[in-house]
Amino acid sequence: MKIQLNDILAVEDTLDYAEPVEALNETLASANHDYEFVAPLQVHVTYSRSQMDLFFDGEVRGRAQASCGRCLEGFPLDVSQAFSLVLTPATPLTGEIELAPGDLTQSFYEGTEIDLTPLMYEQIMLALPTRPLCGEECRGLCPQCGSNRNTGQCACVVETSDPRWSALRNLKIDRDA
Ligand SMILES: [Zn+2]
Ligand SMILES: [Zn+2]
Repeated sequence: MKIQLNDILAVEDTLDYAEPVEALNETLASANHDYEFVAPLQVHVTYSRSQMDLFFDGEVRGRAQASCGRCLEGFPLDVSQAFSLVLTPATPLTGEIELAPGDLTQSFYEGTEIDLTPLMYEQIMLALPTRPLCGEECRGLCPQCGSNRNTGQCACVVETSDPRWSALRNLKIDRDA
């Protein structure tokens, strides 16, 4: 979604639109395979300007199909991210740069239009957990047979890796020998 610079006025205007996710999914696929968005992002943004500084405040929401980091099962994940962005000209007209307050994200723009797409992609990616889990209680996969422990108990005997136990086992074997 692009907004013409001339359409951004001192008086706030609001825009609600759907952002396609094809390019976003390509980016995600090249980084990892944990997420894929299954519907366009829903963007709600209020924009205005002060001289050449542009302000974008709002929220971006999306629904992704995620793969659990423990059991590898797919599950739907709804994410949303509120944003407050300030865009200043890449070449300041006055030569002095005013720094934005700490709670604002400041970026630069060039040309006669603002492309919201990369900004919204960046924001929604901030909302994605580093490691997706289908649930906090996910029991993951059995390290021996690979079956999903959430759906049932497999027949595997869990080998303990505690060194104290293996020391005991060795002791027992020595005694029997
Ligand atoms: Zn899981
Ligand atoms: Zn097993």
